[in-house]
Amino acid sequence: MTALAQPQHTPQYSGSLFIVSAPSGAGKSSLVKALLAEVQGIGLSISNTTRNARPGEVDGKDYHFISQPEFEAIRDQDGFLEWAHVHGNYYGTSRAWVEGQMAIDRDVLLEIDWQGAEQVVRKVDNVVSIFILPPSMEELEKRLRGRGTDSEDVILKRMGAAQLEIEQARRFDYVILNDDFTQALLELKSIVFASRCRFNQQMARHGAQLKSIGL
Ligand code: GDP
Ligand code: ADP
Ligand code: 5GP
Repeated sequence: MTALAQPQHTPQYSGSLFIVSAPSGAGKSSLVKALLAEVQGIGLSISNTTRNARPGEVDGKDYHFISQPEFEAIRDQDGFLEWAHVHGNYYGTSRAWVEGQMAIDRDVLLEIDWQGAEQVVRKVDNVVSIFILPPSMEELEKRLRGRGTDSEDVILKRMGAAQLEIEQARRFDYVILNDDFTQALLELKSIVFASRCRFNQQMARHGAQLKSIGL
């Protein structure tokens, strides 16, 4: 399997675009939520979706919940940076929001599936892709059931898609095995901090200071 493709153009952007993907139930949203509570200076893109809200999900916070005709209208006006059909629903990332954040050099995190990751990596420079894996298929099913938000139908559909999704992990820059949550969170934070320390990112943020010491 080939690595995710390299970008075909290079926007001027000194922040980083982080992509976090995982099979449903691996713990992606829980890890991202904990990351954002602890790390400053990184914004989460709220995706648009045609799926129904789960109990407890809030429109505009977890997702923008929209109808299929609304989704198609935005898509046809090229309003999505990427979009995909996942587990029977449409999901898309708002181009305007992400490009607005990039224009002010903010780090951005996208919680999207592997098909969307592939599209973004082709379009944007400085993408850091991270794949979250469950420790076992049994534990994945246990977490999906334990979450208590999905019907039996939906759980079976998601377990059915999990193997193909897991195979995509080899195409990502980083892989986190989410067995112990605290360890997985530490690894996710470490990836963000290490990415910020890349030479080009440091030059973009601290250029004057680095120049003043002779770089
Ligand atoms: P906030 O965005 O208002 O919360 O302010 P922060 O100071 O937390 O972050 C501003 C921007 O700088 C964000 O895009 C951070 O990701 C980025 N940033 C923070 N520290 C560093 C660093 O050491 N190196 C690099 N390259 N970027 C950083
Ligand atoms: P995803 O966003 O990948 O679909 P969630 O973040 O909703 O997954 O997590 C699925 C369920 O598994 C949630 O109930 C969550 O609390 C639980 N969970 C996440 N990580 C762990 C872990 N390391 N150990 C045990 N349970 C976990
Ligand atoms: P869920 O319905 O569990 O919230 O998400 C199902 C799947 O859709 C997950 O793999 C999630 O990453 C993916 N997803 C969520 N938002 C987007 C998006 O904007 N674009 C793409 N391509 N996938 C998304």
